[in-house]
Amino acid sequence: MKRLVPLSICVFILWLPSVVEAQQKVPILVYHSIEEFHGHGSKELYVSPDNFEKQMNFLKENGYTLLTFERWKDIRNVNKPIFITFDDGYKNNLNAFTLFKKLTTERFKPSGTIFVISDFIGQSNRLSKTDLKLLADSGFISIQSHTATHPDLTKIVNYNDELKGSKVKIEQMTGKPVIALSYPYGNFNDQVVLVTKRVYMYGITTTPGPYIKKGIKNELYLLPRTYVKNSTTLEEFKKIVKTD
Ligand SMILES: [Zn+2]
Repeated sequence: MKRLVPLSICVFILWLPSVVEAQQKVPILVYHSIEEFHGHGSKELYVSPDNFEKQMNFLKENGYTLLTFERWKDIRNVNKPIFITFDDGYKNNLNAFTLFKKLTTERFKPSGTIFVISDFIGQSNRLSKTDLKLLADSGFISIQSHTATHPDLTKIVNYNDELKGSKVKIEQMTGKPVIALSYPYGNFNDQVVLVTKRVYMYGITTTPGPYIKKGIKNELYLLPRTYVKNSTTLEEFKKIVKTD
């Protein structure tokens, strides 16, 4: 009987890490505009700079690590990994950049990903080429692709300009690799995943919920994201980002 005790401890220790890994939750958040809503477009797609600051402060005070997709593999090595993403490349995302700089300390290094629509770059309410270069060089923001023209990818047949074309164009502007694609409207199907795999390392949906590794096929092309909306309260935000 005595000999059995150490053996059972060994079995327990071997079993423990796989359980911890299986339960790890990685929230991936999606924002659009970081600005007060002034009556243009859908109100829910605007988060005020004030609310955004409260949300990021919560992450700072509670030991989260803000990652970008270049550091995907670090989800296993850092405390409370979380991804902050912004779709559509609005000019007002500069407000997020300003806040990230403000919140930076020795211990807290915020970062986020802006998914830009490459043909829309430089339009009046969108980030310009100069903005993108500045953001990419800052180390706070990774610039990734949200296609060239924002089509529903499940309804087109020629993907080249949308996937490869947008990637090349953005890389030329930022001088940094584009490795992640956020599907417009969150829409994808088997064919979209297949073509995305040829060009990108990650495909990002808007299927809600945190990422939990399941080991299923094409998992990195089906990454879930949860919307943070104009109406999201801080209490709701805390539930969205819960990692245990
Ligand atoms: Zn979009």
